Amino acid sequence: MVDKLHTKYVLAETDMPRAWYNILPDLPRPLSPVLHPGTKKPVTPDDLAPLFPMALIAQEMSQERYIEIPDPVRRVYAQWRPSPLYRARQLEKALDTPARIYYKYEGVSPVGSHKPNTAVAQLFYNQQEGVKRVATETGAGQWGSSLAMAGAFFGIAIEVFMVKVSYHQKPFRRSMMQAYGATVHASPTNLTEAGRSILAKDPDTPGSLGIAISEAVEVAAKNNDVKYSLGSVLNHVLLHQTIVGEEALLQMAQADDYPDVVIGCAGGGSNMAGLIIPFVRERLSNGHRTRFLAAEPTACPSMTRGVYAYDFGDTVGMTPLVKMHTLGHDFVPPGIHAGGLRYHGMAPLMSLLHEEGIVEAKAYHQNSIFEAAVLFARHEGHIPAPESAHAIRAAIDEALEAKAAGEERVILFNLSGHGHFDMLSYDRYFEGDLEDYDYPVEAVADAQTRMPQVDEAALGVGD
Ligand SMILES: *Cc1c(COP(=O)(O)O)cnc(C)c1O
Repeated sequence: MVDKLHTKYVLAETDMPRAWYNILPDLPRPLSPVLHPGTKKPVTPDDLAPLFPMALIAQEMSQERYIEIPDPVRRVYAQWRPSPLYRARQLEKALDTPARIYYKYEGVSPVGSHKPNTAVAQLFYNQQEGVKRVATETGAGQWGSSLAMAGAFFGIAIEVFMVKVSYHQKPFRRSMMQAYGATVHASPTNLTEAGRSILAKDPDTPGSLGIAISEAVEVAAKNNDVKYSLGSVLNHVLLHQTIVGEEALLQMAQADDYPDVVIGCAGGGSNMAGLIIPFVRERLSNGHRTRFLAAEPTACPSMTRGVYAYDFGDTVGMTPLVKMHTLGHDFVPPGIHAGGLRYHGMAPLMSLLHEEGIVEAKAYHQNSIFEAAVLFARHEGHIPAPESAHAIRAAIDEALEAKAAGEERVILFNLSGHGHFDMLSYDRYFEGDLEDYDYPVEAVADAQTRMPQVDEAALGVGD
């Protein structure tokens, strides 16, 4: 038995999991099909071929339970994986809680978050199929910098549409992308029809992830030599992130412990899914009673306030329709500092797990998440990304609940990234300048009227 006093468990490279885990064949019920935006019929691989390489389209729909991680991807992963799992002893002491708090730290990747786990995999498959250019969007810049780095590794030119508010709030993420050789635009731009149509209506828009997606998808759809890449939401993205949870399972075993609750912040759902999905497998197959908790901002509460319905992935309505928790594709969230959580939808896979009662969700105000972030930094040292601080807030609340109930509770959360590029946001918090936003319920009802109408019964797959 490994000494529980160890705060960090580093596994040898040879212990890095060799396969990603695909939960699709093990879901309690199948995912609703992805629909073509024009015909509203299930999409075929050929429909998606202008946007993605065939290998990723196959993974998107795969029924294979384990998908081997190709060697060139493993070699890049090995630069920082396995990522460490820490026990938050100092934080536990500060909270005076009987709970044991563990966190998986994804900030050790070169760009400082979990996102390279899929960026590297995606660009590997693009390179295999001869792709030379890839367009994408980015919110806070975490995804753009991940894809830019992977592009440099695999010799692929990267064009990034960066949400305008983040482009100005996080100039150093932009510099970072440029350092890796990527081209970066503040979205909406005048370079695309989607961007021009938004600017005509609202020239001062802060932009949104949904708008930036429209721009990047348009560039890929209109240019034969350009593919598109998404950093969250899609099944293949969540698949690549399962390396996080597979490692965490092994590391928890080394610690001779097992989580009662596993927590992640949820923007599009990928870092949370990556950590929880292997634990969901254990719950579904081995009877573990683990709870799963998604932490999201009150300003963009897709799981706690959104509806479970077919909607577009982008703002303009060019992407296929997916069934997910959504606030409406034309929803433009306020410019909160957790830029990576400003997305109107939620991964279909995570949405289904929420509908099935497997994943719970809670929403938090930004002042309360920065309070948690600062407490965490003062006891554990790591300065978290504002996105990750949502998971910290939820973990702290769980630990305090355990204390109030006088019970042991084992808490595991994903510290999805560091906040070294987010210090301006911390400054705003210290200056007392952060506003707490609530998204009004009426606005969701209103957005619903503009969502695409889909006759699910006619698809023969509705639920
Ligand atoms: C992008 C990002 C998120 C949110 O995206 P998910 O797909 O929900 O994981 C969370 N944390 C960090 C550090 C990010 O960069």
